Amino acid sequence: MTIRTRFAPSPTGYLHVGGARTALFSWLYARKHGGTFVLRIEDTDAERSTVDSINAILEGMTWLGLDYDEGPFFQTDRFERYGAIIARLLDEGKAYRCYCSKERLDALRAEQMARKEKPRYDGHCRHLKDQPGEVSHVVRFQNPADGVVVVEDLIRGKVVFQNNELDDLIIARSDGTPTYNLTVVVDDMDMEITHVIRGDDHLNNSPRQINILQALEGTPPVYAHVPMILGEDGKRLSKRHGAVSVMQYHDAGFLPEALLNYLVRLGWSHGDQEIFSVDEMYQHFDIVDVNNSASTFNPSKLSWLNQHYLKECDPAHVAHHLSSHLGRLGIDPAQGPELVEVVKAQQERAKTLVEMAETSIYFYKDFDEYDDKAAKKNLKPGVLEPLAGLRDRLSELSQWAAAPIHQAIIDTAEAFDVKMGKIAQPLRVAITGGASSPSIDITAQLIGRERTLQRLDKALKYIKDREDATQS
Ligand code: GLU
Repeated sequence: MTIRTRFAPSPTGYLHVGGARTALFSWLYARKHGGTFVLRIEDTDAERSTVDSINAILEGMTWLGLDYDEGPFFQTDRFERYGAIIARLLDEGKAYRCYCSKERLDALRAEQMARKEKPRYDGHCRHLKDQPGEVSHVVRFQNPADGVVVVEDLIRGKVVFQNNELDDLIIARSDGTPTYNLTVVVDDMDMEITHVIRGDDHLNNSPRQINILQALEGTPPVYAHVPMILGEDGKRLSKRHGAVSVMQYHDAGFLPEALLNYLVRLGWSHGDQEIFSVDEMYQHFDIVDVNNSASTFNPSKLSWLNQHYLKECDPAHVAHHLSSHLGRLGIDPAQGPELVEVVKAQQERAKTLVEMAETSIYFYKDFDEYDDKAAKKNLKPGVLEPLAGLRDRLSELSQWAAAPIHQAIIDTAEAFDVKMGKIAQPLRVAITGGASSPSIDITAQLIGRERTLQRLDKALKYIKDREDATQS
């Protein structure tokens, strides 16, 4: 059997981290078994579905690298097919038209509630003869009256539902449009989905869907209902807990590897291993090992993973992701050193790509002002001569590279009989504007000779002006 899984989001918002985890599990399961991963957009709710949301979902999946083999399919393209299935169920006597008015249904509901019964449709129209003409009606699926439906869930185990607890579900609204439980069944059947991996908020839909599928003589898929994600206060993860959209993590400077690794470990483990490359996920992940209880979202662990991947990933890969963050700051990475070299210098230092971008601006663009504290401490009259000496040495270097720059700093320190730091730190403030940067020789190398000398000249003038100001 070829495994076929699907991710079936409703495009009514952004791609939520919970949805992304479900997609990841579904994708991994297909990839691990050499199967097929299908993307299906469940956009039948015309009022709530938006193009922006479809784009946000596709963008999030692309960023995470969750590639699909088939799709995206859109349910709104398949109304004809759903209509044909509804007609077939009606023809075969497995569904019926229901003419009950809203008033009748409301009264029924109120009576059942008063009797402390679970409100459900009483089957009033089940055996009614079809009304002639265009009388408004919905179509209901005739659910088996008794017996049980057993969901053999790969995560939850065996879950048994009594048929007499299930309603005769509406499968077509009065305007003829199909409802969620019908479209999912038809799609899972037509798309030959073997494994339905989805959020456990859909567990209660499974027996209804199995019954409809059986009425259509289809084979039920295997189900795996993934438990929900909680915030640290034990409540369902939501905006109140901070960023919950996948692209918010992109915007905050996370690498997709970090979020994927974080999500795979949310409710699944393999011994005490924390770091998983995608290949290791393929190797070790199995849906049956997913926890059957909810998991708690832990932002600090996600940050830790992000730092890990910023350090360990191939610099070219980090550079690829960094460039869009620099772009947002108005920096064109073509106007300066090779981005990959900047990443190598910054990789160990930054917690996010946003931080890496913000602390890399001086490689590409002149700054207007010094960090006040750093300038007060380091650009003072006493360093004027050594810094001027260093400027001369640097201007004469035959090769602009970290090693000769380093040597020039040592030679200057010796010539002026000061500690190396007394030269290096003023140089740092002079060429970066602040007190922290990667090692100063590499920093200067990357900034380039011309910019370094110009910035040194500016700093020398700044010191002179400061000196003049104190003397006058
Ligand atoms: N469209 C449904 C949702 O976004 C998922 C349906 C399913 O996976 O069966 O909640």
